[in-house]
Parts: sequence; structure tokens; C-alpha cells
Amino acid sequence: MYGFGIAKGMATTFKQLFRRPFTVQFPEEVRTIPARARTNLLWFDERCTGCSTCAQACPDGCILVETRPTPDGRLEKVRYEIDFRLCMYCGLCVEACPYEAIQAGGPLDDAVYVFDHMWRDKRALTRMAREYLGAHDNVYPNGMKAPFDDDRAEAVRQIA
Ligand code: SF4
Ligand code: SF4
Repeated sequence: MYGFGIAKGMATTFKQLFRRPFTVQFPEEVRTIPARARTNLLWFDERCTGCSTCAQACPDGCILVETRPTPDGRLEKVRYEIDFRLCMYCGLCVEACPYEAIQAGGPLDDAVYVFDHMWRDKRALTRMAREYLGAHDNVYPNGMKAPFDDDRAEAVRQIA
């Protein structure tokens, strides 16, 4: 039955010739990404207490949290940084955070020409988070509604 197998193989090959290619010219061209795809890490300042659990859970040591106590007993987040040059997107920080302040989602854009651009500080992370919420009706990747309206989101977006 060699002849049948070859004909079947050739038919499959022939069919592929007329299909549209599945590949896209990334990063210039980006596919539509489902809202809950594990594309990146989003950090939501308004949910974060500065407890550093995420930093302790990260096996690569790419999260830096620096805090100082405030008179009312909270922690002011002086620095919050994620070094995506080291991150392997394992999601352990997401699982560890007790407040769901860091969640998987966001842009699929970690293809860069300058490696250092993959280090993001509080400001860059806040901008990313606001852009995400702006594009998703103020709904976090986990499906919860963010606790502010569009006006406040726009104001914070401008600050970031
Ligand atoms: S996804 Fe993994 S490697 Fe990246 S910051 Fe979180 S714990 Fe660290
Ligand atoms: S992101 Fe979560 S685990 Fe990390 S400091 Fe903020 S509240 Fe704590």
C-alpha cells in the first residue's frame, strides 16, 4: 500500500499550499491576545500592601520591594521593581501574593532590542497596569472589578 500512503501525504502537502500562513511578523505584528492569557506580569499598586511575599517567593530574585513604615501603621512602597531580564514567567509570585496585587496578563511585548528595557520600576509597572485596565473596562485579569471609576483610572494613567 505504498502508493496510497504517498498519495495521502501528497494530498496533505497540497492542501497546505493554499492555506493562509499562521505565522505573524512579531513584534511588529501582534496576535489578538485573550484577556487571561499568561503573557506578562501586571502589578496593581492599589492592591499591594508592600508585604514582599512575592519577592520572597521568586526563585530568580527579580522582584525588589522597598518599603518604609508610615505613622498610621501601613507600609509606604518606596520601590517596587520587576526585572524581566531574569523572569522566567513561572507565576510563583502570582500564586504567593495574598492580595492578588500581581497577576498574570497584559501585553505580549517582551521582545526588545535593548535588553535593559525589560527592567521595570514602579512607574513603568503602573503604566502597564493602567493601560491594561483602560483596555479591559477596569476589570483585573482575575475577573474582579478595579475599585475606581474611569475618571480616576485616567488620572492615574496620566501620572504614570
Ligand atoms: S514569574 Fe517567576 S521568575 Fe518571574 S517574577 Fe514571578 S516568581 Fe519571579
Ligand atoms: S505584590 Fe502582593 S506579595 Fe508582593 S508586595 Fe504587593 S501585596 Fe505583597
